[in-house]
Amino acid sequence: MKLIKNALVSTGNGNDTKLVSILFNDKILEISENPAFHKGVDIIDLQGKLLIPGCIDAHVHFNDPGFNHREDFLSGTTAAAYGGITTIIDMPCTSIPPVTNKANLHKKLKAIKSKALIDFALWGGIRRNDFPLDRKMILKLWNEGVIGFKLYTISGMETFEALSYNNIETVLSELPGLLLGIHAEDENIINNALKSLSKEELKLPENCVKIRPVEAEVEAVKNILEVIKRDNKIHFVHISSKRAAEMILTKKNFSDVTFETCPHFLQFTSEDIPKLKGRIKTTPIVKFEEDKKFLCSCLKEGKVDFITTDHAGCDYKKEKEFEDFSKVYNGIPGIELMIPFLFSEFYLNENVSLETMLKLTSENASKRFGLYPEKGSLKIETDADFTVIDIRKPFKVNEKKLHSLGKYSPFHEETFYCSVDKTIVRGEIVFDSISGIIQKPGYGKWIKRK
Ligand SMILES: [Zn+2]
Repeated sequence: MKLIKNALVSTGNGNDTKLVSILFNDKILEISENPAFHKGVDIIDLQGKLLIPGCIDAHVHFNDPGFNHREDFLSGTTAAAYGGITTIIDMPCTSIPPVTNKANLHKKLKAIKSKALIDFALWGGIRRNDFPLDRKMILKLWNEGVIGFKLYTISGMETFEALSYNNIETVLSELPGLLLGIHAEDENIINNALKSLSKEELKLPENCVKIRPVEAEVEAVKNILEVIKRDNKIHFVHISSKRAAEMILTKKNFSDVTFETCPHFLQFTSEDIPKLKGRIKTTPIVKFEEDKKFLCSCLKEGKVDFITTDHAGCDYKKEKEFEDFSKVYNGIPGIELMIPFLFSEFYLNENVSLETMLKLTSENASKRFGLYPEKGSLKIETDADFTVIDIRKPFKVNEKKLHSLGKYSPFHEETFYCSVDKTIVRGEIVFDSISGIIQKPGYGKWIKRK
């Protein structure tokens, strides 16, 4: 048993906090302002540091197995632990085999089980390669405990082809109860944009946002919102534009729709692309000032459901450092920086309430994906997953020191007002700001949807 003393926690009411002690083993046993004396427990004195439910990143690409030269489960979960993340949800598309059926799921689990430092849940996926739709195969995978199914309206991966809008309608009507996570950018609009630019124009970083315009996201979101029915559950991943977010927010009144956005959309715009180059190139690409402003307002007002990183790194030299921007790999490794960024920029700088911050960094994702209250809460008898943040200790980003295999970041050389002090998963300290990683690979467990 362990006892954390002097932890500053949310009371659940706006920005109110209180100092408490937490008694726990792998589960939370007691939270109290005046703890009883417990003999023989390890005491950790947080001296007033902020303790929040272990943070969740519901959208990562750890690429394992299959694309391990970009990231694997050990490097990815190491970076996550450094970043205060206690649970990740890994995407099905960037591994070989992709997680599209039960056998593939177990191949993946076998490959990653001994590497994870923190807990992980998994997305399943539905791809064009598997059409006509095999209901049985998909339901079997769903029943194994994946948290939802990712699908694309446009894809750059041969091993994970995009669905047409007709395919998506088929999925929605034949498998109404599934939670679908959708990458929404219209393929036609993007192909037409590609055709409209010359070879030389395609090479320029500043044309990136012309190739993947706001309209592509708007069109795909609109087409999907038009066909969803009462029983459907839709989650739009990495929303990057004001207009798409507005449409989803309107639809929320009638349907079970949620969306996420990512730190890069809250901090950068297309004006930054020529300067940041490969560091900021991902899909969707960052948009304009009005989009950034609107997404930030969604965060401040708690209208966006949660924030994810869409973490996808690579070897910068081999896959990012091209003069021809069209050849540059799409992806940013963001997991180590999301929590310091969000708490620095929004909690400390913009005074967003702690209650809202917790919803955006763990509670809402946990509820959406069937992991609550075990994850994303400080309820008694649930997993003792904690993120400890030192709100008095600033931290300057040095991309070379990141723990992902990809050593680059659009946040390079930015200073955050706070830093991660400890990452605790099921009662064990995985990361500590003084000692670094202090757990063995394989400690992280697969968490199934409830
Ligand atoms: Zn992604």
